[in-house]
Amino acid sequence: MLAMAAARLGLRCQVFSSDPDSPAFDVVQNATCAEYADVEALELFANDCDVITYEFENIPAGTAMVLAARKPVLPNLSILQTTQDRLAEKDFVTKLGIGTAAYADVGSAAELRTAMTKIGLPAVIKTRRFGYDGKGQAIVREGDDPQQVWDDLSTRSAILEAFVPFEREISVIAARGADGHVECFDVTENQHRDHILKFSTAPADVSEAVAAQARAIAEKIASALDYVGVFAVELFVVPGENGPTLLVNETAPRVHNSGHWTLDGASVSQFEQHIRAIAGWPLGKPLRHGQVTMTNLIGDDVLDYAKWLTVPGTTVHLYGKGAPRPGRKMGHVTEVTPPAAK
Ligand code: AMP
Repeated sequence: MLAMAAARLGLRCQVFSSDPDSPAFDVVQNATCAEYADVEALELFANDCDVITYEFENIPAGTAMVLAARKPVLPNLSILQTTQDRLAEKDFVTKLGIGTAAYADVGSAAELRTAMTKIGLPAVIKTRRFGYDGKGQAIVREGDDPQQVWDDLSTRSAILEAFVPFEREISVIAARGADGHVECFDVTENQHRDHILKFSTAPADVSEAVAAQARAIAEKIASALDYVGVFAVELFVVPGENGPTLLVNETAPRVHNSGHWTLDGASVSQFEQHIRAIAGWPLGKPLRHGQVTMTNLIGDDVLDYAKWLTVPGTTVHLYGKGAPRPGRKMGHVTEVTPPAAK
């Protein structure tokens, strides 16, 4: 989707992936299929590019360093280090004075036992690295045995987070240009099924004050990271006597699934904003075309594609990923309801 957005602006992409079936290979002329540790392939790839970006934050640090020694990598390398590690990410956000769930660093069953007392239960244990779509995390409840929980997670480093009694989950997709200018898309509301994003709707059902606060949080984080590109912040909206408060759950240094609605629902998509930002071009002012719902086609959902193709007002995106597997994101559908004609 990034490569297609680039092509529409007259820019060419070269894709590097270790997966021979990468769907991105189908839409670009120049592709490198090699391992992240293949220094020679990385160097040849970098030689062909003016600027390098990524749409997956778990790029090994060594890979990013080889590339950055040759061409600008945006967003910059230190951002990968902060966002690859849930502990570093939470520490960074907390230092900015932004709220998160209470959390503790956990490196053993004994430390987990101590953290369970400190944080309270229920709580959520998450591996510090490589967690997504609910993978590498579990709820810890009263009566659970810390040794058993630790063994089941099979990791060396984790964090224990307080369980947040949120009323809704929202996200902000923000773009920050090389000149520091930030443009946010309208705040999106997200619903998960089995820890995987299923629906995103825009705008989120929150007050303008809450939406403004969410955008300000995204802008503060992006500016503190000296970020260039598109950035996502997932937040919990927690009800309280004096109105809702916002806690940051996670940040993502890339275009984000909860921003896929922008392809069909806004004047500029998150993909185009990212390409503009890394190219050093002015960002667009994204205007939403109406009330938008994005539905992920997960696993066998994709088998219904023909049904979706006939639904009035919907746009169907199929990723060409091959065989559906449970939990695999195979495509998405966007429905845009324009405001009533005046
Ligand atoms: P994550 O991988 O951190 O984005 O978590 C996936 C989903 O699990 C979130 O979108 C929430 O629905 C849920 N979740 C994660 N952390 C917490 C928490 N501390 N309290 C309550 N629910 C959580």
